[in-house]
Amino acid sequence: PAMLGILGGGQLGRMFANAAKNMGYGVTVLDPDSHAPAADFADVHLCQSFTDPAALQYMASHCAAITTEFENVNADSMRWLASQGIPVSPSGDCLAIAQDRIAEKTFIRDAGLDVAPFLAVKNAGCLDTDLSAYLPGILKTARLGYDGKGQIRVKTLDDVRFAHAEMKHQPCVLEKMLSLHREISAIVTRTRAGEIACFPVAENEHVNGILDVSIVPARVSPALAERARSMAMQLAEKLDYIGVMAVEFFVLDNEQLVINEMAPRPHNSGHYTLNATLTTQFEQQVRAMCGLYPGKTDLLSPAVMVNLLGDAWQDDGSEPNWEILMTAPNTKLHLYGKKLARPGRKMGHFNVLAASADAALEQANAIKETL
Ligand code: ATP
Ligand code: MG
Ligand code: MG
Repeated sequence: PAMLGILGGGQLGRMFANAAKNMGYGVTVLDPDSHAPAADFADVHLCQSFTDPAALQYMASHCAAITTEFENVNADSMRWLASQGIPVSPSGDCLAIAQDRIAEKTFIRDAGLDVAPFLAVKNAGCLDTDLSAYLPGILKTARLGYDGKGQIRVKTLDDVRFAHAEMKHQPCVLEKMLSLHREISAIVTRTRAGEIACFPVAENEHVNGILDVSIVPARVSPALAERARSMAMQLAEKLDYIGVMAVEFFVLDNEQLVINEMAPRPHNSGHYTLNATLTTQFEQQVRAMCGLYPGKTDLLSPAVMVNLLGDAWQDDGSEPNWEILMTAPNTKLHLYGKKLARPGRKMGHFNVLAASADAALEQANAIKETL
């Protein structure tokens, strides 16, 4: 069978590898850790970093197509792999845009899609202007932020200067703080032939900057959900994106919708597709990289996904009490095979499928209490 390659062997790599194996492919994962979560389903090729030339050479000579689970993989690594004639998805160019909030928000705005008002702060001099349109706001580092890290909330010009110094004057965006009615996301699959599909919109709730639950369908009007899916697909088209990408949105008052950010890979808010749609987001990633058609994305049942963080584990490392999940017939537990539970570390998730999103949410909350 053809060998598929993925840069990164975390939980996203693991679920990708599992999907690929089920479809009859072999999988090689490039990762610095031989016990990475994906190792249960794939051959691991060890590397020091994702820019290691020998490791990239190995992947180029062993894999029929290559993708990534890690959004900060060096864009030039993906470009080099593509230069070797390997189908690479997403492209280095798309990754480069997604990795830099200045490039990302500028691209989205230039594509005619709404974003929060923002100022590109390439250096301290960029702050010598009237900032009132962006205050109160959030200063976000342009690169390497995730789970709300690399963000400082600011009210005054002094706050902004202080925060920018805190960030060592690295490139940032200053974004206006919006009043959020809800947060939603849409996951798009686009193939080399331009076939496109989008999963139903999920509604996302965060705790301490980390995704806590996703509720599907999102509790927004059908028209708004359609608008989000359409915007996500338009963005994928404009990027000439190949692969799976997630688009996060803010829902404001009066059904106003702005794009927050994109993730150039399957996304935590799409884990409900492991049980609630015919095709999973990881199968879509396999399909897109192999030039197959996207699979069907219709929702087969309302669902709620709950993230399981290391906080739910005992201090001695023992697992939560899974009994209630094992006895409820409409739940699915997914564990990532991580041995070490640390606070905030994503250890797994569970999905609850029920007749309505509200019923699923109620049951999910009850289960959370008992774990
Ligand atoms: P992720 O882990 O999703 O990659 P991130 O660290 O890249 O997150 P953002 O998605 O930019 O960060 O922001 C994290 C959260 O902070 C958002 O989900 C939202 O709740 C809040 N937030 C970010 N920007 C704004 C804004 N302009 N107005 C109001 N809330 C915001
Ligand atoms: Mg992000
Ligand atoms: Mg985000």
